[in-house]
Amino acid sequence: MDFQNQYQQAHQMPKYECLLFDLDDTLYPSSSGMSKQCTKNIEEYMVKKLGIEETTVTQLNQVLYKNYGTSMAALRAIGYNFDNDDYHSFVHGRLPYEVLRPDHVLRTLLLSLPYRKLIFSNGDKVHVAKTLSKLGLKDCFEGVICFETLNPISDNEDSKSTGCRKVFDQSCLFDAGSALPVTPVVCKPFANAYEQAFQKANINPQRTLFFDDSIRNIQAGKDMGLHTVLVGTSNRTKGVDYAIESIHNIREALPELWEINHKKDISRSFSGKVAMETSVTA
Ligand SMILES: [Mg+2]
Repeated sequence: MDFQNQYQQAHQMPKYECLLFDLDDTLYPSSSGMSKQCTKNIEEYMVKKLGIEETTVTQLNQVLYKNYGTSMAALRAIGYNFDNDDYHSFVHGRLPYEVLRPDHVLRTLLLSLPYRKLIFSNGDKVHVAKTLSKLGLKDCFEGVICFETLNPISDNEDSKSTGCRKVFDQSCLFDAGSALPVTPVVCKPFANAYEQAFQKANINPQRTLFFDDSIRNIQAGKDMGLHTVLVGTSNRTKGVDYAIESIHNIREALPELWEINHKKDISRSFSGKVAMETSVTA
């Protein structure tokens, strides 16, 4: 047992103070079809707005996503310039939001968790707000860290004023040994996105539990000091502290999240005496 755990037990300090949630495919299942449609919209944007050859777009998008975590970050990295708002309204604005339904079970779970709760999404603020609203979860979170939080307006103004494209040699994307051009977009899984999120939302990663469906985002989060929950699979791999098939399984996988209430109740029952609890967390 390390010093921090001993200190937390002795002082009845909860292990966590904040829960940080990705949105898409984390707070609703990937089987909703939203992600599939999002990929279609991205490919359509690449063909219609950026003039990328239709026959190559699927493979290119897969390589871009694999290398950068988001297609948008990758497209900007390899030299495409476009208006961020136009991209978001084309890619997210046309998603089938009607497939999302209010999730009363998740709402009850979230509201019963006595911690700060924040969204940490690469999506734009309109998409995050619409999705949370459709899921009936808008008032379950203290705040939202999204694309606009991490990418200030000035960057977008740049792309609006340029409006042209200057594309790098794309062969580096297909060659594992090549150095990739750096993206100007701040997003998960890059370290600067986590650093900005921690700073802007006053998050202590050592006392925060991070939920995401992307193994890459989870592993990057682990490297940044977060405790991690991979959502969408029960397979635990490197960097994954907990793995759950569905966000609905939080209570079964992490019953200790609710135990601080229980401990408080026990403490109160000892008429003024501070009850020293033996930790029951694994
Ligand atoms: Mg996600």
